[in-house]
Amino acid sequence: MSIDDDPVVVYAIQPYQARKQYLCPGCQGDIGPGTGHVVVIPELAPDLRRHWHRGCWFKEMRRRGRLVSVDAR
Ligand SMILES: [Zn+2]
Repeated sequence: MSIDDDPVVVYAIQPYQARKQYLCPGCQGDIGPGTGHVVVIPELAPDLRRHWHRGCWFKEMRRRGRLVSVDAR
């Protein structure tokens, strides 16, 4: 089992809560201060929290196959 399979907790960060600049692991792009995004925290390794663009995290979830019901054909 890779770390990708570990359960995670996802929090929405509102624009007013985003006071720093983060690097999105999905697109390697910057998430600037004042940009709404999500923070993803592995339940088993809370220190490994990462900040993602909302869209990048959504794509990542699809890549991991967790949203199969959304676009099941
Ligand atoms: Zn991104």
